[in-house]
Amino acid sequence: MTKTCDGLLFGGMNGGGYAEYNLLAEGVAMQQRREQALAGCLLGGAIGDALGLAYEGLSPRRLARLSPGPLRFRVFPGLALVSDDTEHAALTAQALLRSRGDTNRFERVLAWRLRLWIAALPAGVGWATGRALWKLWLGIPPGRNGVHSAGNGPAMRAAILGVYLARQPHALAEHLARSTRLTHTDVRAEAGAHCIALAAAQASQGSSDPLQLAHLLAPVLEQDGEGMADFRMLMRAMFESVAKGERTQAFCAAQGWQRGVLGYVVHTVAAALHAWLSHPQDLDAALEDIIRSGGDVDSTAALVGGLVGAGVGVQGLPPARCAALRDWPWNQQRLSRLAIALARGGREGSLYPCWPLALLRNLLFLLLVLGHGLRRLLPPY
Ligand SMILES: [Mg+2]
Repeated sequence: MTKTCDGLLFGGMNGGGYAEYNLLAEGVAMQQRREQALAGCLLGGAIGDALGLAYEGLSPRRLARLSPGPLRFRVFPGLALVSDDTEHAALTAQALLRSRGDTNRFERVLAWRLRLWIAALPAGVGWATGRALWKLWLGIPPGRNGVHSAGNGPAMRAAILGVYLARQPHALAEHLARSTRLTHTDVRAEAGAHCIALAAAQASQGSSDPLQLAHLLAPVLEQDGEGMADFRMLMRAMFESVAKGERTQAFCAAQGWQRGVLGYVVHTVAAALHAWLSHPQDLDAALEDIIRSGGDVDSTAALVGGLVGAGVGVQGLPPARCAALRDWPWNQQRLSRLAIALARGGREGSLYPCWPLALLRNLLFLLLVLGHGLRRLLPPY
């Protein structure tokens, strides 16, 4: 179709013209919603990651002692520094941009992005993710390099896949499988990432209905495999807890997670979905709930932020939080450009960041995180 909205508006409409105009207007509105959801997912995830980073590894009790007031970006005051969670989401978005639905190409591009990423020595890489990516450098082909682990790596890459492929469930499952097996082979890692992707897809379609989500997740959770029965039981408890209106912190405490939600995808997914379903429209409230549940909170908060952002769009995120995203390379502008390119079919933002600069940035990041970690050794305990 070559006509533009303006052309139709000023071209003198007959009955067919109105119908065509309505269709075009609907198409434009859909594209705008998609842009909003993609940008909201990337930016919301980055905000959650950056806010959670300062509190990573703390128990709920210690966190309450250290930070009784509002949660802030504390690794470098006022600046939202992001970790592997945002980087994996952004690299996945870049791979989607380059591959445009071709799963083989998606796997190849994502594998190269992750190779370059690990070679820039990022801080705080998960054990399984690190091992799997160095195996790629040793020549083991993508898809055979994964490590048997049920960690959080694949879930970090899942929400953006869910939003981008929200209307294509088979393509989503295929992309998700390729993304997961680049690092993890445990059935729970793929099932957990699939749960996050489906929740993000649902959020991007404007729904946060727990019953609809339970229906969507059922086929994923009904798979056989190591630990899947426990995963199903935990998810059932999560939906019951949400229905009762319990806080996420109370749900986590009832599971006996006194040290917080650690890096096990089954626990991470249950806690993240609980916080999202409890506050689907309110990023700050959802992040407060998940971060105060303690543990691996940059990852859990990144997931929650991505889900809330996919639902409310970038316009529903707190502007001050977005403006604080001034890290390099994954700042507000770059993440927004990436989302727009994904929605409109452009190429802008598809290049990997300059590798030597990434190395330097990671060194500075490590020093800041270590400094922050030392400050956290001080009282109150
Ligand atoms: Mg992280």
